[in-house]
Amino acid sequence: MSSIILIEDEAAISDTLRFALEREGFAVSCYTLAREGEAAIQAQKPDLLILDIGLPDDSGLEVLKRLRRHSELPVLLLTARSEEFDRILGLELGADDYVLKPFSPREVAARVKAILKRSSPAIPQAIMGFLSTAKSISG
Ligand code: CA
Repeated sequence: MSSIILIEDEAAISDTLRFALEREGFAVSCYTLAREGEAAIQAQKPDLLILDIGLPDDSGLEVLKRLRRHSELPVLLLTARSEEFDRILGLELGADDYVLKPFSPREVAARVKAILKRSSPAIPQAIMGFLSTAKSISG
């Protein structure tokens, strides 16, 4: 099971997302403050981070900047529709993708799955290749 840390200060958004992601089989831990979330990343070593840009104690972009100094953890940014500059900056700072608010929880879950697929190690893909080759030989 993949684990996700969600840093988002709006309870309605965070509850909705947690529900949608848990239904897809992810383990989700939610935090409302940047510093809590950063501590949790160190402690839990999650598979993916969902990061709101507008947090009460810091900008999500600053969190991302600090994270990228030492970690390749996949990051999906949540951002308000008006913050175009922030979105571009977010991608430049190393975010893997972003979603504009308001969003559908299913869209977020789909993007999370796509990022995890891209960032998963090469070995499972090699096994998949072997299996499809074996299948075509036997079939
Ligand atoms: Ca926010």
